[in-house]
Amino acid sequence: MSDRTPSTEVLVVGGGMAGLAGALALRSNGAEVTLVERAPEFGEVGAGLQMAPNASRVLKRWGLLEKALEIGVRPKHLVFRDALTGEELTRQTLGGEFEERYGAPYVVIHRSDLHRILLEACQQAGVRLVNDVVVDSVETVNGRGIAHTARGEVYEADVVIGADGLKSTLRAAVTQDGPVSSSYVAYRGTVPITDETPAADLEDVIVYLGPDCHLVQYPLRKGELLNTVAVFKSPSFDRGEEQYGGVDELEAAYRDCIPAVQAALQNLATGIRWPMYDREPIENWIDGRLVLMGDAAHPMLQYLAQGACQALEDAAALQDSTLGSVFTDDGVNARAWDLAISDFNVARAGRTARVQRTARVWGESWHVSGVARVLRNLLFKSRKDGDFQYNDWLYGQTSEALVETRS
Ligand SMILES: Cc1cc2nc3c(=O)[nH]c(=O)nc-3n(C[C@H](O)[C@H](O)[C@H](O)COP(=O)(O)OP(=O)(O)OC[C@H]3O[C@@H](n4cnc5c(N)ncnc54)[C@H](O)[C@@H]3O)c2cc1C
Repeated sequence: MSDRTPSTEVLVVGGGMAGLAGALALRSNGAEVTLVERAPEFGEVGAGLQMAPNASRVLKRWGLLEKALEIGVRPKHLVFRDALTGEELTRQTLGGEFEERYGAPYVVIHRSDLHRILLEACQQAGVRLVNDVVVDSVETVNGRGIAHTARGEVYEADVVIGADGLKSTLRAAVTQDGPVSSSYVAYRGTVPITDETPAADLEDVIVYLGPDCHLVQYPLRKGELLNTVAVFKSPSFDRGEEQYGGVDELEAAYRDCIPAVQAALQNLATGIRWPMYDREPIENWIDGRLVLMGDAAHPMLQYLAQGACQALEDAAALQDSTLGSVFTDDGVNARAWDLAISDFNVARAGRTARVQRTARVWGESWHVSGVARVLRNLLFKSRKDGDFQYNDWLYGQTSEALVETRS
């Protein structure tokens, strides 16, 4: 029993979706978890979030799906339309066979609601949550992760989970890369649904595809709010301007779109613009007893609506890779962390790299013009509702938490 310790300590850096989900997953296995967040309060900025079945299955596993459904919406369809003509290109029914096939519903939810559900679950589970802590670096000494904060404090744990997002500081331990700008910018907004709201497609996720732009709309909060996201290519990015993608460019980008799309721009909060970044996929997420997860490990463009979904998958995989190795029937084995995080990394890196790469290509297909647009539309229209060939790899039940079992 010399390699056994009575408890195992985990430090999670970052209190976004990934950090909270990771903290909850490891706490569920019995870890003593401390989560530190640099912001003075926990919360999420932004509007809606699409949660595909690969993510809602994870909530279901943790008994949180019902809470998400109490406040979220189960959209009836995912519909793609041409933004220049309004023509419907393809439609996926999201209930019935879709839900049965993937074992959980497609849910759209306000990101602050999902964040709160995860935060409350962490609080109830006994995760120690600390605000106002900025972690600058993590080193590994004698098999322990030592996190140094900006204020000169030190946190020590058996393992440190780096969940510090797209602009991750801790990622520098495994690669010297930086965020890659896509030259696209998003504006988002939520407005109440009223009698005046145009009635079309209010129960669906609808995506309008235009040259160098697209617009997404779906309902939130049991249909009380309408969520709108407009994403367009910024001409001033190509000119090297630092503050690219201003409101003037937003309006110009949708000039040729149908009136319904132009009218939807009124729903956007134009005070905040969101330049869209990802990073190149990396194979190694580990440095000693530091392991990355969520956007820190695999930030992606949002075209597949999978960033937070993949973070939830990460958490489920971390839960699986540590159960039976670090956390055993006989107690905990802190030495098994090296193997467990390696298993986690191996299980997840290939899949998330595929999602990152596919998101880029998928986005390109949305924004084409001319002949490419005609061909794209033909291809989309040839796809029948109930054809799952493009969804299975992403939403399929076998893809979640594929961790090799060690003998
Ligand atoms: C326009 C848009 C639409 C999107 N739509 C979807 C969607 O529909 N579905 C979906 O699944 N995903 C979507 N995403 C992606 C999703 O929002 C992200 O992938 C997800 O929120 C990432 O979560 P995270 O916890 O990894 O990172 P973050 O949310 O960035 O959290 C990182 C946390 O770490 C903290 N932090 C950072 N540095 C430190 C430090 N040094 N010390 C301590 N704390 C630190 C930060 O304050 C922050 O709270 C979308 C993204 C965008 C931009």
